[in-house]
Amino acid sequence: MEYRFSVSDVVSAFHCPLQFYFRKKGIKAYFRYGNVHIGSFVHNVLSVFAKEIEKPTLFNEKREGYIERKLYQAFLSVSISKHYNVDFEEGWRYLKSIGAYFENLAYKKSIPEIKEMFLLSEESFLIRLAGAYISGRFDLLLDIGNDIRIIDYKTRGKEIDIDAVQIAIYRYAVEKIYKKKASPYVLYIGDGEISEEYFSDEEYTELMKQINKEIRDMKDFLEGNKIPLPTPERSLCRYCSIQYHCEELIKKFFT
Ligand code: SF4
Repeated sequence: MEYRFSVSDVVSAFHCPLQFYFRKKGIKAYFRYGNVHIGSFVHNVLSVFAKEIEKPTLFNEKREGYIERKLYQAFLSVSISKHYNVDFEEGWRYLKSIGAYFENLAYKKSIPEIKEMFLLSEESFLIRLAGAYISGRFDLLLDIGNDIRIIDYKTRGKEIDIDAVQIAIYRYAVEKIYKKKASPYVLYIGDGEISEEYFSDEEYTELMKQINKEIRDMKDFLEGNKIPLPTPERSLCRYCSIQYHCEELIKKFFT
């Protein structure tokens, strides 16, 4: 049988096979953290910004403030086009930090035209991995000379450690699709301050072995060949959307 999983399914199974199992039984089970509303607002503004960034503009003194101006236009257009239940001041603070990050990166890497740097934004992908189809969506891919930088934004601090699996799959997907080396970065922008996390080649190789194994296990859970156990990291349960119903669901599905 052909299986198709989302990247979120793999993240779920990797950290709690039981949560993954419930998801596949139609229960809304996932890890939730950070401010989801502001996260979606910031993602939408950045998507508009990346798609509308203007045609060739030389990256010199005249361009000073260019990214911030374009970001602000995107911010205004998204703010008035949809109803968001967010603190716009906070949203703009996040966006300004990201703009400064792009600006700094372009200087550091001597990229002459900003537009050239933005490869893809909010783009879906579908790849084969461990005998299954895996679908996902990149936040942003930046073309930086010899490699592709994968940017994933998180409008929160790094309070829980579950981002590595997602970003490793993104790296695998980029290298498969573009046949180019990819460098995965997660940008944590909690409180308007950016902190960047990079995952090394060693971490990636090790993680991909475990992810391949997990995807095979996911098929076994669904086919009844293996029992999906609860997470061994019980501290994760407080971020789980079904934390108060877990026991009752275990009884329902397993007795
Ligand atoms: S409450 Fe904990 S054990 Fe239960 S599904 Fe959620 S993460 Fe897994």
